[in-house]
Amino acid sequence: MPKTIFSLIALGLLGWAVGYFTTATAGWVVTTLGMTAMILVSGTQLAQIRKWVADLSAPPPPSVGPWDEVLAPIYRQLRRDSAIIAELEQDVDSILQAAEALPDGAVTLDQEKRLTWCNRTASTHTGLNLATDRGHSIFNILRAPEFGKYAQQQRWPEPLVLHHSAGNVERTLLVQLTRYGIGHYLLVTRDITQVEKLETTRKDFVANVSHELRTPLTVLLGFLETLYDIPREDISDEQRQHYLDLMITQAKRMQAIVADLLTLSTLESSPTQAGLPVQMSEVIHKALQQAHLLSAEQHVFVENIDENLCIMGIETELVSAVSNLLTNAVRYTPKDGTITVSWYKTEQGLACYSVQDTGIGVSPQDLPRLTERFYRVDRGRSRSTGGTGLGLAITKHVAMRHNAELTIQSRLGAGSNFALEFAASRVCPPPETGQTSK
Ligand code: ADP
Repeated sequence: MPKTIFSLIALGLLGWAVGYFTTATAGWVVTTLGMTAMILVSGTQLAQIRKWVADLSAPPPPSVGPWDEVLAPIYRQLRRDSAIIAELEQDVDSILQAAEALPDGAVTLDQEKRLTWCNRTASTHTGLNLATDRGHSIFNILRAPEFGKYAQQQRWPEPLVLHHSAGNVERTLLVQLTRYGIGHYLLVTRDITQVEKLETTRKDFVANVSHELRTPLTVLLGFLETLYDIPREDISDEQRQHYLDLMITQAKRMQAIVADLLTLSTLESSPTQAGLPVQMSEVIHKALQQAHLLSAEQHVFVENIDENLCIMGIETELVSAVSNLLTNAVRYTPKDGTITVSWYKTEQGLACYSVQDTGIGVSPQDLPRLTERFYRVDRGRSRSTGGTGLGLAITKHVAMRHNAELTIQSRLGAGSNFALEFAASRVCPPPETGQTSK
């Protein structure tokens, strides 16, 4: 500004000097020309500044006189501001990226509980679509009445368990609402479907074990009380023997259940090992001897065993899987049925143990459940033949620990084929003496 006043004074003085030494008219002409030149220069500068204002990121136009004094500090301030804005943008970006990376869903709501933002996990959990749902009330999006009731509360000390379906997927969600900032809300969602399933499985398992043990225990206790209460002279030796036999049967049943439970728990808790070479033909022949005893010559056995095919594994576990399939075939095949036991290498190089029977078979709806613990198609038949309902669950575990697949093919009333297919990587040369795994 002082420079402007100085220029005007200089122009005035120049005009006065010209007028004094020449004529007054010449003085006015000089002053007018000078003023016009100043106005033109200022007009040009103003036009350049207007252009610059449209894109403040560029440096200001080269300016003269007072313009430079005004524009330079504005530009410096602008640069400082844009550096701060860039830093803030970076912070916001990294916070958003962190919120996206959260394993839980996060949803932000305004004072009216309208959607303002949500991460991808929340979209997956709840079906929220940020593009179309932003600005809509959360009550119109999550319509479950229990969520409505929960969200209307003033405080949310506990999360809510919500059964929700999004994109045809049923989920169990744990949702927790909380306040943040000035009257805003944060909704956190966690998918607990698997945890809930595991918890249900655990509860069912405990209930099943208790039930399985309680039945023989009740029978055992009943006979014990009977023997205890009846005076010696009122019971014949045969009757006493009969009761004792029944008691032994029940005690053995409990023992078998506990033994299978322990086997399962060992399989679940011990680390998987490669093991040592196992002479499978020996394992199968031993299992066949037991099967013959169990069959009491009521079945026809066909054997098709490759004596030299060996695999790496844990022998005790393989013994259990091999004999489970074989004893099942005997137990679920009526008299005169045929049981074919095979151990061979497939064209793909897999080692396959299969037990085929002409027994009662399994219906298609029961097939997928056979390897569940304590699942039996016919409870009575399983119990009467000494089954625990855990044999196939154990076999499936052993298979998993040996890179094998348990496949079951069956037709109700026609028979079944249970097979264990071991990966080619498990096949190995026969063990040298003393090298087998127990
Ligand atoms: P269980 O001790 O009851 O035999 P498993 O786990 O070995 O228990 O088998 C589960 C169920 O699968 C059996 O109760 C039976 O219903 C069915 N099952 C198993 N093997 C056969 C088979 N070879 N033929 C028909 N059903 C079978």
